Amino acid sequence: MSGDPLERYSRQILVPQIGRAGQERLSAARVGLVGCGALGCVISTHLVRAGVGLVRIVDKDCPEIHNLHRQILFTEDHVARRIPKAEAAAAVLSGANSQVAVEPVVGVIDEKTLPRFAEDLDLLVDGTDNFPTRFVMNDYAVRRGMPWVYGGVIRTSGMSMTILPGDGPCLRCLVRELPRPEHSPNADVAGVLSTTVAVLASIEAGEVIKLIVDPDARNKGLVLLDIWDLTLDRIEVPRDPDCPSCGGL
Ligand SMILES: [Zn+2]
Repeated sequence: MSGDPLERYSRQILVPQIGRAGQERLSAARVGLVGCGALGCVISTHLVRAGVGLVRIVDKDCPEIHNLHRQILFTEDHVARRIPKAEAAAAVLSGANSQVAVEPVVGVIDEKTLPRFAEDLDLLVDGTDNFPTRFVMNDYAVRRGMPWVYGGVIRTSGMSMTILPGDGPCLRCLVRELPRPEHSPNADVAGVLSTTVAVLASIEAGEVIKLIVDPDARNKGLVLLDIWDLTLDRIEVPRDPDCPSCGGL
């Protein structure tokens, strides 16, 4: 038995910004996590433990040994048995909170697959490591008027933006064209420190929680952090009236 939900979430409900009403909103929410690598492991951990009603996780890969320093849900056994990341994460997280529906999807997200993945969801959160997938997420979310949270990390730095289509900029107001791969290296090429991931992913999960509980409290700029220099800045991003994604809204 999973116990009394009020007991489980009692310390979270005590937070004034959450309260009973916020907890009820969390338990009614349906969130899609695209990518379950380093960011996704931390984001999904927060959301499932916080009691978000449904967390659907998509990833096509199996964990590898060089993932384990930062992808905190996976073990050497998952690597040895080639358990897909989405399934391994769902199994671990269901054990942490059986009151939440954790749905693994082993597959790729693109223009064709995203609408079906996200059809019955309230919002999306970015656990990917590439801009082509983020552009697909952004364009879909803008078309649907669906909030989503962007986040990325490299080495010791990270950035995040919270997008509420029609109310502030979207990702393509910030990054209009797909960056060339050499201008957006991933962890395989440039490396990443796990503590960077932990902080940035926690910011993303916090933004998801705010979008559900009190959207006005969301981050309305671009957050930039560096875990080595220990700096965190938030800069304003103007909405681009000619944005190829949200310009017509
Ligand atoms: Zn835009």
